[in-house]
Amino acid sequence: MGPELTGPEPMKVKSDPRTWGDATKLVRGGLDRSAHGETSEALYLNSGFVYDAPETAERRFAGEDDGYVYGRYGNPTVTMFEERLALLEGAEACYAVASGMASVFGALACQLKAGDHLVSSKALFGSCYQIVTSILPRFGIRTTLVDGTDLDAWKEAVTADTKCVFLETPSNPGLEILDIEAICAIARSKGATVVVDNIFATPILQRPLTYGADVIVYSGTKHMDGQGRVLGGAIVSTRKFKDELLKPFLRHTGPSISPFNAWVLLKGLETMKLRVEAQSHAALTVAETIATLPGVERVLYPHLDSHPQAALARKQMRLGGTMVSFEVSGGKQKAFEVLRRLRIIDISNNLGDAKSLMTHPASTTHRNIGAEARAAMGITDGMLRLSVGLEDVADLIGDLKQAVVS
Ligand SMILES: *Cc1c(COP(=O)(O)O)cnc(C)c1O
Repeated sequence: MGPELTGPEPMKVKSDPRTWGDATKLVRGGLDRSAHGETSEALYLNSGFVYDAPETAERRFAGEDDGYVYGRYGNPTVTMFEERLALLEGAEACYAVASGMASVFGALACQLKAGDHLVSSKALFGSCYQIVTSILPRFGIRTTLVDGTDLDAWKEAVTADTKCVFLETPSNPGLEILDIEAICAIARSKGATVVVDNIFATPILQRPLTYGADVIVYSGTKHMDGQGRVLGGAIVSTRKFKDELLKPFLRHTGPSISPFNAWVLLKGLETMKLRVEAQSHAALTVAETIATLPGVERVLYPHLDSHPQAALARKQMRLGGTMVSFEVSGGKQKAFEVLRRLRIIDISNNLGDAKSLMTHPASTTHRNIGAEARAAMGITDGMLRLSVGLEDVADLIGDLKQAVVS
């Protein structure tokens, strides 16, 4: 928390934010008004801070006064964003960073050292896959990849030696659903910390902490902004994990979020529930429609009956999410034709946006991992991934029909 501001004593009795519903938390959580009494959260676009006396600076550096010292260590706007997200998750703490990848790398690297063992699901976002299979091993961290849907594989891979478990559910782009509760129980029995990439589900639809996860990583870039403007990320954890592991690692390595970006994300959170719910309802309708189109071999959507883990998805996700993946017959050539024919939906690898966006994962987000790893994740050349936005569903369905059915 920041220093006490010298404004007028609050006149009103305030209710306890922890008793609020999600929508109230998203609009008002973490709000820390300055002495000016601004309605909207203030943007503190500054890198440094000044002190009234050398003793104040000394106390702050000694940790005896929790005021701000430097932008890389903290900023009042960033704090508001962190507190709002922690409140929503029912978590003790949150640490905001520059991007989703900074959150993934920070959450893993802050707790691992040479010789440690990490077990991860193998259906991962491209850059997460690079961190697990290539970057962390360079520092002497041993990693094991498992088929995330196979609980026996987790039981076999997680040993007394395992320090950390990492998983992504739903996965990008295959929309695999992993049993968070069961995997956390396996990890817990061996004393390993569980980090969940909850980027696809968002905290609106899925709460990994309630299933036993220790740490959650987010990309603010996706649904939190939701309007394609800024990069950002956040790590949700216990107070102890933040203070003892994240702070020493992140403060000195410097993946800080810009206060401006934190401010955009803070305002994005205010509408995130509305957007994610509306986009998820639209995505279900879109998925049901795509499934009826000729030339479509397979549709993957967590709450569609045909999804291999539909029951699990309904248990741990409140709605099916904003993402739909599908496979057209005819491989890459046909997939590219569909993309070229789109008249409303844009070709883009971004997601969670108000604008509907479609990408061909095999040639973009999952290009670098290679054909073999793609095959192991079920990413075929005919697969397309659609991020459903806020346009009229009828317009999206019209666009998809004319693009898919040639
Ligand atoms: C986008 C994404 C990331 C990385 O987030 P950035 O903000 O782009 O760094 C990590 N994991 C998943 C599942 C993602 O979709």
